[in-house]
Amino acid sequence: MLNPLTPPGGATPDVPATLPAPDFPRYPDRLVDPPGFLDEPHVPPAHRHWGVPAILRVMRGWLVPYLRSRVLPGDFHPIIAYLFTEYKCNLDCHYCWAYDNRVKGMTEEVARRSIDWLSENGAGVLALMGGEPLLRPDFVHKVVDYAARKGFFVYLPTNGRLLRTDVIDRLADAGLATVNLAVDSVDVKPSLPKALAPIRRQFDYLVKKQYRYGYTVFFNTNICRNNLDDVRQLTEIAHDNGIAIDYHINEAPLVEPDEHFRHRENNATYIEAQDRPYVAELIDWIIERNRAGYRMVESVTRLTEMKQFLSGHGEPWHCRAGLNSLIVRVDGTLAPCFPMYSVAHDWGTVGNQRFDASQLAEMKHTCERGCFSTLNSVLAFCYDDARVIRYFLQSARHGFQRLGASLD
Ligand code: SF4
Ligand code: SF4
Repeated sequence: MLNPLTPPGGATPDVPATLPAPDFPRYPDRLVDPPGFLDEPHVPPAHRHWGVPAILRVMRGWLVPYLRSRVLPGDFHPIIAYLFTEYKCNLDCHYCWAYDNRVKGMTEEVARRSIDWLSENGAGVLALMGGEPLLRPDFVHKVVDYAARKGFFVYLPTNGRLLRTDVIDRLADAGLATVNLAVDSVDVKPSLPKALAPIRRQFDYLVKKQYRYGYTVFFNTNICRNNLDDVRQLTEIAHDNGIAIDYHINEAPLVEPDEHFRHRENNATYIEAQDRPYVAELIDWIIERNRAGYRMVESVTRLTEMKQFLSGHGEPWHCRAGLNSLIVRVDGTLAPCFPMYSVAHDWGTVGNQRFDASQLAEMKHTCERGCFSTLNSVLAFCYDDARVIRYFLQSARHGFQRLGASLD
């Protein structure tokens, strides 16, 4: 098979085929826990103190790429890139078409080439993706280490089942910036296996050790027709543990998945017309909690837009996919976003991107109407000079001690 990263003419560029082995531990003192550490109840601090390295990591990851994209000519200025290191998964959430256990994971060469190319193109945030990235913890350790040393704000989404305490220490030691812990329910349901109960011990360790290493943790929860009470409980658990929560509206696939997706019919998770009033009520409850000071990735404005989208009255939201965000598939080919993972259009490869603003605009004319990609709609919402300036000034007024507060 043709290596998709082979450039025109066929010459193989001189890139090492491996990622460097990380030094571990860089911070041996952070590994040692006092006796009873895990068993003591966690009381989150009223105010988390952010040191200069954490503040600089956020600025370098988000603000600098944004400013660069505003002042440089051209359309393609990535801020955030999703690197699909894996397309296999150890779970089977019934709404999820985004994994296929027949697909081999990314090679070290593709990962290294991707990180180098994204860095040269000014991207600041590298989100690992799957499938489940932690199927290969040693590989992920290398990717986190390499990307963090290049200055990326590295973000790991995981269902947590393979997030052992030693894996947490390794990734945090390598410079992981944030963990997006994907949980849809408190106890396992057959259609929603991403649950908190089976990973409670890892969760407690992860939450406690974030203060020592300087990373952040947030829940990532998909609002489905069959987990509305769980979403409320997870919101309270996140609040009690001093972490943020991020919400998605569970959507049926925009692009027809291939035959590997087994749950297209009679899916217990998809929101039907008769469920919408209950979901709207839940979003109102979430908005109240947001106003009461619960930490959330979405602002009240964004949550209100989510509700409008649900009712079919959403406005165009000016998706930035393919311009300021992109995905890198396991083989190094590119696409603008997750929903387009399986689309055959040629958007190029790492080192040879072919995103075209007019093709993207024409495509979004259709797909934006039926899509509320949280990642891209949050990026679109934040891609606004007035909002960014206001956020920066407010942050500066608080001595940059409100890292992670949402833009409004
Ligand atoms: S854990 Fe994530 S990748 Fe795996 S099936 Fe569930 S949603 Fe899909
Ligand atoms: S609107 Fe949705 S499907 Fe279309 S490009 Fe943006 S993220 Fe992708």
